[in-house]
Amino acid sequence: MQGRIFSVEEFSTYDGPGIRMTFFLKGCPLRCSWCHNPEGQQFSTEWVRGQNGCLQCGACVRAAADPNRLDENSAAACPRRLVRPCGKDLTPEELCAQVRKNAAILNASGGGVTFSGGEPTAQMPFLLACLASLRGVTHRAVQTAGYVDGAQFSALLDVCDFFLYDLKLMDGALHRRFCGVDNAPILENYRRLAASGVPFITRVPLIPTVTDTRENLAAIARFAAQNGVRDVELLPYNRMAGGKYAGLLRRYAPDFDETVPVRPKAECLEIFSACGLRATVL
Ligand code: SF4
Ligand code: SF4
Repeated sequence: MQGRIFSVEEFSTYDGPGIRMTFFLKGCPLRCSWCHNPEGQQFSTEWVRGQNGCLQCGACVRAAADPNRLDENSAAACPRRLVRPCGKDLTPEELCAQVRKNAAILNASGGGVTFSGGEPTAQMPFLLACLASLRGVTHRAVQTAGYVDGAQFSALLDVCDFFLYDLKLMDGALHRRFCGVDNAPILENYRRLAASGVPFITRVPLIPTVTDTRENLAAIARFAAQNGVRDVELLPYNRMAGGKYAGLLRRYAPDFDETVPVRPKAECLEIFSACGLRATVL
């Protein structure tokens, strides 16, 4: 068995408690309009061109078999060697060996390993194998959008110590429009997680005019409160979100007006506190 990783962060302070080693798994069933990790969406290994030092000569595109996608011919044609494969295959044993090497440092900080993406549950057998193998080695966290079959999610609850769980839009039609899939499985798995007793943090991206509306934030706050949640983290829109698309020959075209400022922090916090929740803006 092998999993496909597109990035590894050796010492992250953002993906759960303490210092974390974070693995970003390739593949995601969602297509969020604001996604800032487009290289994590496709499961297949893609060729990406770096921007720093690029001569804008176009040789990489001319050499590609498909002008919309870079390939190994692009890599050979680039005079600056800026075209590289994005996606590395590892066995669970290989990945876990990397974690074991750093475990003492991670554990000393109260940290551990985090599996992110993309959507890590999209490679569920590999994810389960890694998590099971790291039991007792270090603290294990999964960052997920929760769009996965309920039985599979339940299996994950048995081998994971902590979740970072994203809630984006409570309205089903809006979720389909802006994220590309129905939110019913996401809400169902959130209920499962809350009932399981496994600790987790709820994360909400603040996307101007999309997720940061009063109606949506209040609906998320009510839903979280109904499930016994007390703390929520809010992630302001990343205005650099489009930066990586050019490297994949894609155009960042968000389905909302990104020039509109995100709802002021004080208003967001007030919406959550009205439901008895403590929100933190990251
Ligand atoms: S990535 Fe390389 S081949 Fe492509 S435009 Fe830049 S310098 Fe030219
Ligand atoms: S869930 Fe995350 S990785 Fe997947 S499309 Fe949305 S923002 Fe991108």
